[in-house]
Amino acid sequence: MSTNPLRVIIAGGGIGGLCLAQGLHAAGISVAVYERDAAPDARLQGYRLNIEPVGSRALHDCLPAHLWEILVATAGDPGPGMGVFTERLRLLMREDDLPTGLGPSQRTHAVSRITLRRLLLAGLHGIVQFGKEFTGYRQNADGTVTAFFADGTCATGDLLVGADGSRSRVRRQLLPHAKQRNAPGVGIGGKLRLGDTTAWLPEEITSTKNVILPKRDFLFTAVFRRREGSDAIVAGVGDQLRAAGLDPDLVVQDTKDDDYVMWAYVAHRRVLPAEATGQRGQRLRDLVMSRLAGWHPDVRELIAQTPEDTIEQFDFSAAAPVKPWPTTNVTLLGDAIHYMPPVGGLGGNAALHDANALRRALIAVSRGEQPLLPAIAEYERAMLTNGFDAVRAATMYLRLAILRSRAIRAVARMFFRLCGIVPPLRRAVFSD
Ligand SMILES: Cc1cc2nc3c(=O)[nH]c(=O)nc-3n(C[C@H](O)[C@H](O)[C@H](O)COP(=O)(O)OP(=O)(O)OC[C@H]3O[C@@H](n4cnc5c(N)ncnc54)[C@H](O)[C@@H]3O)c2cc1C
Repeated sequence: MSTNPLRVIIAGGGIGGLCLAQGLHAAGISVAVYERDAAPDARLQGYRLNIEPVGSRALHDCLPAHLWEILVATAGDPGPGMGVFTERLRLLMREDDLPTGLGPSQRTHAVSRITLRRLLLAGLHGIVQFGKEFTGYRQNADGTVTAFFADGTCATGDLLVGADGSRSRVRRQLLPHAKQRNAPGVGIGGKLRLGDTTAWLPEEITSTKNVILPKRDFLFTAVFRRREGSDAIVAGVGDQLRAAGLDPDLVVQDTKDDDYVMWAYVAHRRVLPAEATGQRGQRLRDLVMSRLAGWHPDVRELIAQTPEDTIEQFDFSAAAPVKPWPTTNVTLLGDAIHYMPPVGGLGGNAALHDANALRRALIAVSRGEQPLLPAIAEYERAMLTNGFDAVRAATMYLRLAILRSRAIRAVARMFFRLCGIVPPLRRAVFSD
């Protein structure tokens, strides 16, 4: 039970909202999460999420120690660094690997979305309510805020956090002028299991993530491998899982999935015929294959052998920059404010970073070190800067993918090659 009068309401129980709830609950701050989905597994998503060091730090700080340990034990390995190649698989640049000897909270983890959600929900029984679609809020004369839900119920607290994703209802009421721009790009992705039949795949593709920068379009590949001895590690946390109220069989089932390479082909929207929009499978694969003339045969084979049922299409949009607004007792985090194309895998990490920053701000408020509104104003300033930096980076990757000027592409390839040859330049451009 909370000993502190601060009451936080979170609309949206996704990655960011649940991470914040865990951090606040651990600090003894009263928090309630209202999630639209009917149940935790209502939408099961297929790809693992790449958690970069910034996201790892947030999860480490917000989760109780035993849940963090389980997360690390059940995560896969996305491999070190990143390569940039031509379509003939000629190396242009390899981004420096992370220094060795880093602890788990400073490293990258490939986490199953379902496992992550289950872990983020562990211990929050009674705090997270499902089937609660947020519809609007009212700011009250006494400084509190009331959130309303589609089932006719409501909840009142001192702060409402909109963590309700890219189509945020909280944002639409708080910042009706904030816009999302449709990016003129389209992504087609699939995944191929690694095994005896894929021994022909080049080592670059099966060991790290890569960007392939041809004369047109763009291909991203990433590999997800179980960590060495993962079965034993997972078996070792069985008791901890049970102690956290989790069914070990359910939590570890994703870690038993085969290792796989995922790829995402990104191109200008004009490449996709109208009748292929929203389709899955063979039609999309044919489309990608038709763009790969002259590419390295192993890359063509990667696409050709990918099972149809894993091939799907993604549309891209990005939040337009938002000017700071007068701070009130309603704030936002993650995709609800700085939605970005998934190119580069930055959005979830940015949401986790926000959650951790807001947790710290609210702990300071609950300890009486700072009043609520100045603490939120400070959080919002830093969140807007970090979040929209990530939107710009993701949009820049996307622009590179859909760029049709051969001259500018040649310059980009030359730039990566130069970074590959001159390590200090590479470090200056690509390190954090
Ligand atoms: C194909 C793909 C691959 C990606 N890969 C990566 C990656 O590797 N790494 C990475 O960092 N990011 C990745 N991302 C981006 C990442 O998934 C998002 O940025 C991240 O989920 C944002 O977290 P969030 O908590 O802000 O929003 P969400 O995770 O979208 O959570 C929002 C929650 O709010 C709920 N909700 C919505 N409306 C309401 C309402 N009215 N009332 C109540 N609840 C509501 C939703 O049901 C949802 O549970 C990827 C995205 C895609 C599409």
